[in-house]
Amino acid sequence: MHVIYGGTFDPIHHGHLRLALEVSDALSVDRVHLVPCHIPPHRNATGATSAQRLDMIRLAIEGEPCLRVDDRELRRAGASFTADTLRQLRNELGPEQPLVMVVGTDAFAGFGQWREWQDIPALAHIVVVQRPGSHLPEGSDAGLLLGQRRVTSPDTLRSAPAGKILELEAPLLDISATGIRQRIAGGRSPRYLMPDSVWQRIQNQGLYGACPD
Ligand code: ATP
Repeated sequence: MHVIYGGTFDPIHHGHLRLALEVSDALSVDRVHLVPCHIPPHRNATGATSAQRLDMIRLAIEGEPCLRVDDRELRRAGASFTADTLRQLRNELGPEQPLVMVVGTDAFAGFGQWREWQDIPALAHIVVVQRPGSHLPEGSDAGLLLGQRRVTSPDTLRSAPAGKILELEAPLLDISATGIRQRIAGGRSPRYLMPDSVWQRIQNQGLYGACPD
């Protein structure tokens, strides 16, 4: 079973890292692949570049065999569309191997606006992790899809290559990259919300308005 977990990771924090480990435990897989998405340069005004985000992910997962980074979206020019990434992976993995995409509830709530979202269930399973304080809007495409495709046991995902949706209630940390960027820009420390190595790199490079060392 191949598990991917996508995001902007701007910057990566302990909420992301705990979630990835909780998922690997719950699904009994040896590794979870973090897939940072490409952000068009004009949206990078206050965040970090793709190379910097990738570098911070590498630092964060150093020495953790369960977590890998897959930089395929950063190597593709232009916007990252999950459907393209899943198609690419499906070609590499072949038609039989279960492929799982992990999303938080907040990201899944907007699933109906993703490009070619209707193609995604044929390509992968979806694991929706309950994020503190966020719920699926009633009557949303995501909610309807969940109703049609919900399974309750992680084992069920191994019985098919794609098409099922599992909701996972994992103990999660209420940390957001937005909150971290705001703290840094406001001159307050984000320490203990993210690995120290990442915070040091942010300070060294003066990212997100941090005062360079
Ligand atoms: P931002 O605040 O910039 O939107 P973020 O912290 O939400 O960033 P993203 O990189 O946008 O992080 O999120 C990637 C994925 O991780 C999404 O599916 C999101 O739901 C999930 N996620 C992020 N932070 C947490 C958290 N603390 N707990 C659970 N899920 C999270």
